[in-house]
Amino acid sequence: MTDRPLILCDVGPRDGLQNAEPTLSPEQRAEYVNLLAATGLSRIEAVSFVNPKRVPQMAGAEEVMQLIERKPGVTYAGLALNERGYDRALACGVDLVQYVVPLSETFAEKNQGTTVDAAAAVGIDLAARAKADGIDFAVTLSVAFGCPYDGKIESSRVLSAAEHLAAGGVEEIMLADTIGVGVPTQVRELVTETLGLGLTVGVHFHNTRNTGYANAVAAVESGATILDASTGGLGGCPFTPNATGNIATEDLVYLLEGMGIETGVNLEGLFEVSRWLSEQMGTALPGLTYKAGGFAPIAS
Ligand code: ZN
Repeated sequence: MTDRPLILCDVGPRDGLQNAEPTLSPEQRAEYVNLLAATGLSRIEAVSFVNPKRVPQMAGAEEVMQLIERKPGVTYAGLALNERGYDRALACGVDLVQYVVPLSETFAEKNQGTTVDAAAAVGIDLAARAKADGIDFAVTLSVAFGCPYDGKIESSRVLSAAEHLAAGGVEEIMLADTIGVGVPTQVRELVTETLGLGLTVGVHFHNTRNTGYANAVAAVESGATILDASTGGLGGCPFTPNATGNIATEDLVYLLEGMGIETGVNLEGLFEVSRWLSEQMGTALPGLTYKAGGFAPIAS
């Protein structure tokens, strides 16, 4: 554990919605982001600048960004997978560009139409641009805990990618378990060793095999300072077979607050956002705590 404040990033408006039906309108997505900002979250992945032909759920990112009421102190992030996405992100004033470097060749080809090395090279270029443009920049290492096509990803591969990016000027790395196969021992090893490279380290867990919350605890105890999660645990990946949602933001907040780790997030407020989202989607969400409710001695 470190003394640095923990940053919880709700990726629901991006990772949660990108593979879900029905598609929400830009107005609904902006409302979703505004509701999240009101709960005290300090970071929200609000939009994605992927090609809307590939991911129609994410169309209209510019409109979403325009409709958001920017709350001071909240970092509004956007996902970009290439230079074109970065240009769009910059033009609509995101605070942080989240870029992705996949760690397997097949995933790189299917998800981004690129190679691992080419994706890393673009990441290094974009890190320099972000510095010059005065915006924050982070790289997500996707399939860092295992790939649906290429199988096991050796930790040495994750670390050499992180080291290469760090040498190229990247300061923040998110270790992503895109398909939810990781376990806490793996998390401890990867977080500890990535921190050893002098990077700010975050984690992004999907709960596909129910290991997401145990992994989140292992990550925090190992010194990770950024945790992605999505409202109600909604989510998946358009290019990942059988992927399920992220760990649920409110379940994570309940867990961390109960452990005495301050999140700065209002749990009841998150329950309301999950209920709102559940109504918009016309279905119950996978998260459990918004249905069960808090527990007075723990939750505020
Ligand atoms: Zn994800």
